[in-house]
Amino acid sequence: MINRKSKDDIKRLRHAGHIVALVHQKMKEVVEPGISTLELDSIATKVIKENRAIPTFLGYQGFPGSICTSINEQVVHGIPSADVILKEGDIISIDVGATYGGFVGDSAWTYAVGKISEEKQKLMKVTEEALYAGIAQMRAGNVLDDISGAIEAVANREHYGIVRQYGGHGVGRTMHEEPFLYNYRVGDHTLIKQGYVIAIEPMLNLGCDEVVVAADEWTVSTADNKASAHFEHTVLATDDEPMIMTKLME
Ligand code: MG
Ligand code: MG
Repeated sequence: MINRKSKDDIKRLRHAGHIVALVHQKMKEVVEPGISTLELDSIATKVIKENRAIPTFLGYQGFPGSICTSINEQVVHGIPSADVILKEGDIISIDVGATYGGFVGDSAWTYAVGKISEEKQKLMKVTEEALYAGIAQMRAGNVLDDISGAIEAVANREHYGIVRQYGGHGVGRTMHEEPFLYNYRVGDHTLIKQGYVIAIEPMLNLGCDEVVVAADEWTVSTADNKASAHFEHTVLATDDEPMIMTKLME
């Protein structure tokens, strides 16, 4: 069953999303060559806790960090580590979850570390574009396939790989609720209703679609070791324009 959120639920979701956005604002400042992903995790944890929220990912199915840090060919679920030091030319996808007032905000962004190659720049730009193309379809009266298809069309235009095994999801009191949202058309005609909140999160690859999971049982990487980018917002369907929950409050 897909939950429709009440006014009060939405207020809390928005607050959780604001805190997630504060973390990303900070990440943007501190991502640079020489910093470790564990340091990024500590900084993110501090921001979440200072705002009286809970790091949603920490302990989730045993995940050891507050954020996921996935570098270059890593797609998602990279574990923060003191041994992983960012270097010039890397891209890093940082996924952040915060729980506030019992509700979750979930958003991921890919950042450039120093100067990066043109092909990585383009991958980031296009994946962000795919995210916003998906968000634009998050309207009451549309179906889930409209979001999936919009993302797929942007990826196909550039002949990028679309990660198949992972996708978007409903968000509420828990991070993963129904529905699952594919990043490519599957013929899902589930109607989107006002009050639905879904994390939309394209993961696009410079190369093939296929991914592999590392021996740590978390880190997902592309099978051909080519770079991957990940952009995600938690979004509310209203009677009017889609509303992004995971951005800063004005
Ligand atoms: Mg996420
Ligand atoms: Mg998510």
